[in-house]
Amino acid sequence: MTLPFLDLQPTYAASRPAIDAALARVAASGWFILGRELEAFERQWADYCGSAHALGLGNGLDALHLGLRALGVGEGDEVIVPSNTYIATWLAVSQCGARPVPVEPDVRTYNLDPARIEAAITPRTRVILPVHLYGQPADMDAINAIARWHGLKVLDDCAQAHAARWRGRRVGALADASAWSFYPGKNLGAMGDGGGLTTDDAGVADAVRVLRNYGSRVKYHNEVKGLNSRLDEMQAAVLAAKLPALDALTDQRRQIAACLLDGLAGAPVGLPFVPDGAEPAWHLFVIRHEARDRLQAALAERGVGTLIHYPVPPHLQPAYAELGYAAGDFPVAEAIHREVLSLPLWPGMSEAQVAHLIDAVRSVA
Ligand SMILES: *Cc1c(COP(=O)(O)O)cnc(C)c1O
Repeated sequence: MTLPFLDLQPTYAASRPAIDAALARVAASGWFILGRELEAFERQWADYCGSAHALGLGNGLDALHLGLRALGVGEGDEVIVPSNTYIATWLAVSQCGARPVPVEPDVRTYNLDPARIEAAITPRTRVILPVHLYGQPADMDAINAIARWHGLKVLDDCAQAHAARWRGRRVGALADASAWSFYPGKNLGAMGDGGGLTTDDAGVADAVRVLRNYGSRVKYHNEVKGLNSRLDEMQAAVLAAKLPALDALTDQRRQIAACLLDGLAGAPVGLPFVPDGAEPAWHLFVIRHEARDRLQAALAERGVGTLIHYPVPPHLQPAYAELGYAAGDFPVAEAIHREVLSLPLWPGMSEAQVAHLIDAVRSVA
């Protein structure tokens, strides 16, 4: 049996008639940018998240960048970011001319450790940027409380956390603004690049609406130096067609995750830890093992595809040499990056595939 790391076909099958109709509808409409499809999806996504406003954007990186700019981040400012995250979280800060200030995660949840945030706050800090990594919601109550106390804003990176809940409330309405990616492999994915921002703040929504369209409210009149970063009509229509299936697909992820947690209990691997109050979206099922590379190779021999999220932490990337960090500066993140391995977990995985995965991990770990 072979088990690919990810197969998007069952997710397509779950909404295929609606997706195919949406693509045909947009093609026939002759209108491809900033139209009715986008407006409809923005309304649906805002309602789904329980947020007042949603804006469709070109991709997740732009969503983070424009969200930060709308919250007032600029040249010389500092933004608190996790030391373990996808590079996009840091790049968005740099694109504002600001400096990413890394804070170590809680080693069990992989999310920003609220107890370590205050030590990183300086007079230049503007925003705290937690990431709901692997689909596990961060402790937003603690993070929001710290931000309020210090007069800071919170933007959360929700790229991996569609439909996740923290203390019963959906991620996407728990911060001053929330940034989304609809990259094809995310839990709600387009058929190309896509991103979005949700917020209850009408001023933030208005600023992002202008920034995503060349800094222009009225065509050919430019108030600020904006970007071209709009969710196009095809992608908006695809996302609207897929949204009704998101809850059922997330339930499937939760069921598979429960089977894996059960089947791997007692095996010599570190399993995902779900704190009280967290309902993860299970974007990724990440285990830890001291001999991670050997485990990955042995699973590949048994036909099981795995990936590493992520092999190199941002502070050790050549792209961030300018910050002058060295190995050992963020030991929690570095240990995580050395040991994590993401197992296959996608809607449509069969019981036999889940059983095969459990057997394979148990026999090689
Ligand atoms: C995917 C991802 C992004 C970036 O999204 P894109 O749409 O690929 O630009 C940002 N942050 C995290 C945590 C991600 O997983």
